[in-house]
Amino acid sequence: MNKFLTDMHTHSTYSFDGESDLKDMLATAYEKNIAFYGISEHFEYGYDLSLPELASLKPIDEEEYFHAARHLQEDYQGCMNVCVGAEFGYNDEEEAQKRCLETYEKYRPDYVINSVHGVDKTDFAFITYPPTVTRAEVYDRYFKAVRNSLNALYPYDIVGHFGYICRYVPFEDKKMSLELFGEQIDDILKKIIEKDKILEVNAATGGMPQQTLPDADILRRYYQLGGRKISYGSDAHLTGRIGQKREETVAMLKEIGFTYVTVPFRGEHIKVEI
Ligand SMILES: [Zn+2]
Ligand SMILES: [Zn+2]
Repeated sequence: MNKFLTDMHTHSTYSFDGESDLKDMLATAYEKNIAFYGISEHFEYGYDLSLPELASLKPIDEEEYFHAARHLQEDYQGCMNVCVGAEFGYNDEEEAQKRCLETYEKYRPDYVINSVHGVDKTDFAFITYPPTVTRAEVYDRYFKAVRNSLNALYPYDIVGHFGYICRYVPFEDKKMSLELFGEQIDDILKKIIEKDKILEVNAATGGMPQQTLPDADILRRYYQLGGRKISYGSDAHLTGRIGQKREETVAMLKEIGFTYVTVPFRGEHIKVEI
């Protein structure tokens, strides 16, 4: 059966951590028969760039990115649905959220992924924890940030990689388990459903044993609670990762009961069968 392939979370060299040119990313996506390809470059307005470890996280050139991406979108018209989007890094600071809103209003991205990459003004990758810190302390803080992000001041469509913090915690058992954190996880999932947002199924797990972020247990719980809107994202930062683990991910999603993914485009939610 000829299914529509989607990949709604990708980066290129317009993002500080992207490795392939946008042109090459799109050419590869086209070769791979992707029907809906989402470009979601990083927009991080909350980092304290005076911290030496954050200095390399140079901000995106908004003007240049949107200009180039819109041109490429036109080039692919009729061949591949290119969605020119943004991944907004959520920050509790109102100033940072206002900047996201300004960018949104100025450039009108086709869709937005809202992601929590850190707390305070830094990224989880750079946080060092005291040896006495407990899993509950670290994860509770994360849940609070994600819960707050759902009420961000700017519009968004997809809740990015829920569980992302697990990649960076100093615990042997990194699992964000329903047994330990069921209440907080349920609260977040219910809010996503209530607000009619799309929960991302992100294939970049950074070497963790689970297949996706969030993992199958949380996706199953989301389904039980009535959540049906999900989005597949490779989170590719280079051509070779576009569509990574999609087959296995779709098999897992089908086993849970999902029958489609939802592609957000200019406020519309398009159902694509899996
Ligand atoms: Zn992200
Ligand atoms: Zn990303």
